[in-house]
Amino acid sequence: MIALIIFGSKAVTSCVTTGEFDCPYCHGQQPFKHLRVRKFFTLYWIPLIPLGVLTEYLQCQSCFGKYKPSLLGAGKP
Ligand SMILES: [Zn+2]
Repeated sequence: MIALIIFGSKAVTSCVTTGEFDCPYCHGQQPFKHLRVRKFFTLYWIPLIPLGVLTEYLQCQSCFGKYKPSLLGAGKP
């Protein structure tokens, strides 16, 4: 019998948190999503094991621009 095992890796984007931030493009308080892209080991196309964080970014829900998460701390002492 031949067992065919299909595995690979896949990037999965998940939402860490939401809130409001001062968008550099919209110039004002805009709602954002803090998104985290993680690489997963997949077996039969199902993400099973997280392999690590590829990137994190803030996405403005008004202009849909991508910004660095460090922007959240900017402007506050
Ligand atoms: Zn914006």
